[in-house]
Parts: sequence; structure tokens; C-alpha cells
Amino acid sequence: MSSSPIKVVVVGGSYAGVNVINGLLSSSKKTLQITLVERNEARHHSVGAFRALVDAEYGDKIWVPYTSLFPKGSSHKIIRDTLAEVHDHHVVLSSGVSVQFDYLVLCTGSRNPAPAKFGHVASTADAVAITNKARAELSKSKSVLIVGGGACGVELAGEIKTAFPDKKVTLIQATSGLVDYPGFSQAFGTSAQKHLQNLGVDVVLNERPTIEGLNLDNPVQASPVTLRTKDGKTIESDLQFLSVGIVVDTSYISTLKPVGVANFDSKSLVDADRHVLKIKDTMQLADPNFPHIFAVGDCTNFSEVPTAAACKFTGATAAKNLLQLINLSSTNSPSVLEVQAAEKKAKLGKGSMPGGMMVLATGPTTGVSSLPLFGTRFGSFFARMLKSKDLMIGGVFSDMRIAK
Ligand SMILES: Cc1cc2nc3c(=O)[nH]c(=O)nc-3n(C[C@H](O)[C@H](O)[C@H](O)COP(=O)(O)OP(=O)(O)OC[C@H]3O[C@@H](n4cnc5c(N)ncnc54)[C@H](O)[C@@H]3O)c2cc1C
Repeated sequence: MSSSPIKVVVVGGSYAGVNVINGLLSSSKKTLQITLVERNEARHHSVGAFRALVDAEYGDKIWVPYTSLFPKGSSHKIIRDTLAEVHDHHVVLSSGVSVQFDYLVLCTGSRNPAPAKFGHVASTADAVAITNKARAELSKSKSVLIVGGGACGVELAGEIKTAFPDKKVTLIQATSGLVDYPGFSQAFGTSAQKHLQNLGVDVVLNERPTIEGLNLDNPVQASPVTLRTKDGKTIESDLQFLSVGIVVDTSYISTLKPVGVANFDSKSLVDADRHVLKIKDTMQLADPNFPHIFAVGDCTNFSEVPTAAACKFTGATAAKNLLQLINLSSTNSPSVLEVQAAEKKAKLGKGSMPGGMMVLATGPTTGVSSLPLFGTRFGSFFARMLKSKDLMIGGVFSDMRIAK
């Protein structure tokens, strides 16, 4: 058996990628060399993005450095670059650098309109400046319009109204209910709506406005806008936020082809509508030619409603399954055939996550939730207990081994 370390490449160092890495670090029996490929300088705690918008002090904390992720002196490394191509046993980065792997875990996530998420940013300072600019515009604004009443829109409206009770805040949703997601009860949307209305937010349903200039590349716009709804209501605003649209970019997978298989169409690896990677419940790509390639988090079709909580559950599953394959493989650099043989001997676990679970914070002490057993009952109490105060930033610091 070769004594060279087993090369595991993880792409994307956020909720999914860091959970996988921590699972691998905690219980590997063989010597691994983990390489994290991450395009940004620091990890963004997107769950806290809207608190950062209204609270500058909190905003200083939500970009968490990677400096302590790996033990000092270990052979693990971080490459700051963007994944451009995936091949059978190597990836190619935007810089042209090629990185070999025995096992690959794709955790490239998704993008929401800023300041919820940022995509690629040249530096952390650039991303912080985007949030700071939006905060400055918010502080000048008298009337805020938020387009999109999903989880992000509800939290954004709540955080703004709680921090600035004197501002007029309107939340517009295209469908007949807020947080209108598959697997969630109508009662959740109703409780979110009542909760926001109690805070003083105007909720407008069944309207799908197009606001000139407001789009994914310009999701915060300070301009006077007058909207007229179908039933003749007039909505004035001087600041607009776009809060619709999750974008997933998995175009890097188009180069992946199994060795020796003619006419392979890599489009079969991707959901055509959502552009997410198709995976098995073992978190491996849903194609038997790639048992050594895993994917976790928002970049996958694991759930129609992607969450950081799911990254926690399924990241652990992916790490355990990967370690089983590693331990059952006869060599440290196994061929696909050898990994397939190990897979037959392994008892791979299945990623799962309780359905219909979501906690929305609408300020440091309030929120709404949908939880197993309790449904939407005691929603604000559970939100306060589980999330609202610091939006779980402590867990991110501890995952990244950074002192608070
Ligand atoms: C405002 C807000 C609040 C939320 N609140 C909650 C909550 O309370 N609870 C909850 O469970 N979920 C919540 N979510 C959802 C949660 O943030 C996502 O499910 C989570 O971010 C998914 O994590 P991920 O690791 O899959 O991807 P992401 O967090 O999107 O991270 C992907 C990482 O990959 C990197 N990357 C992407 N492409 C490349 C590439 N080609 N090359 C190199 N690096 C790349 C990115 O820079 C990033 O670091 C919230 C989301 C938002 C926006």
C-alpha cells in the first residue's frame, strides 16, 4: 500500500464545506491531505447578513477568517481561487492551476441578492463596504420596499422594522402567502404575516412588481418609486431591496466525463431548472461513474428549500461516508473501479433532515418558527431561544476554531 496521503479536495468553505472538513478531521484513521479551494478571503455568515445591515458592530463579525481552520503545521492547505473545471481526478482553477484529488467534495453553495450573500468578492473589505453602503442608505430612508416574501424577505423586513420602528416598511410577495415553500404549512406563512404586521410592517400579497434598475446585480436601490397595486393601493418608497432569486452556478461540472466512456453528457449531472448537482442520498453524485465525488449544501438537489441546518446534517453524513470509502479502499489513490469495490463493502449512511423546519429571526428578541412537534406554536419563543439573539454566530466561530 502506498504511504502517500489521501488527497481530498473540498471546494467552498462555508456551512457545507466546513462541516465536511471538520467531520474528516475528527475521525480519519488514515493520513489525509485536505485542500480547501475557496474563492473568498473569509467565510461569510450569511445567516447574520440582515443583522449586519442594521447593526454595524455585528457586521464587523460576520466575515470569519480561515486562519485556524486547519491545525498549525498540518499538510492541509487552503487555495484561494475559483473552481472552473472538474475532471475525473483533478480540478482546474480559474488561475489555470490544476489540483489532483482522490476524493472531491463540491460545496459551492448559492447566491442570493446582496447584502444576503455576495458571490465572489475581491476582498472582505469590499463586501463589508457593500453592507455599509446599504446601511447608510437605510439610515437616510423613510420608506423601504422589499420585493420577495420568502424567508429572506421576512427576516429583512423584521430586522429593519425592529431596528427602525419609525420607518415605513412594505413587504411585497408574488404569491398568496409568505414563506410559501414546499413542505411547509400555510400556517407558517400566516404566522409570519401576523408577526410582521404586529411589528408594523405592511404586507402586500399577490403582487409581482418590476422596479426599473432593481435586479440581482443592483439589489439595493435608493430611488423614489411609486407602485400601484392591482386593487388600487399606492405604495411609496425611497429605498428598495430585491429579495428574490437564488442563483446556483455549477457550470464547472460540464467538463466532467468518466474515463473511457464515450458520448457522456455531463448535463445529466445537473437539474436543468435549478442548476443544482444531482446527488444520491449518500451525498455522492447521482452517477455510478463518480463514487469518489460528493456534493453537499445549496449546490445540490438535496432539498427544495436549502438551509445551513441541512448542511450540518448532510455534511456529517458525507464525511462519514467518505471515510468509509477511504478506509475500505485497498490503495491510497484508488481508481474508480477500486472505489466502486469499496462502496460494495461499505454501509454508507443516508443524508436526512427533519422536514418543514425553519426558524426566522425578525430582530434580537423576536421571530417565527416552524418546528417538528410544535408547528408554529411558541414561534417567537423558539426563535428567541434558538436564533434571534446572535443569529448563531457562536457556532460559526467554534466551527472555524476562532475565539469569540
Ligand atoms: C439572510 C439569510 C439567512 C439565512 N438564515 C438561515 C437560518 O437561520 N438557518 C438555516 O439553516 N439556513 C439559513 N439560511 C440559508 C443558508 O445560508 C444556506 O443554506 C447556506 O449558506 C448554504 O451553505 P453552503 O455551504 O451550501 O453554501 P454557501 O453558504 O453559499 O457557500 C458557498 C461557498 O463556496 C464558495 N464558492 C462558490 N463557488 C465557488 C467556486 N466556483 N470556487 C471556489 N469557491 C466557490 C463561496 O465563496 C462560499 O464560501 C439563510 C440564508 C440567508 C441568505
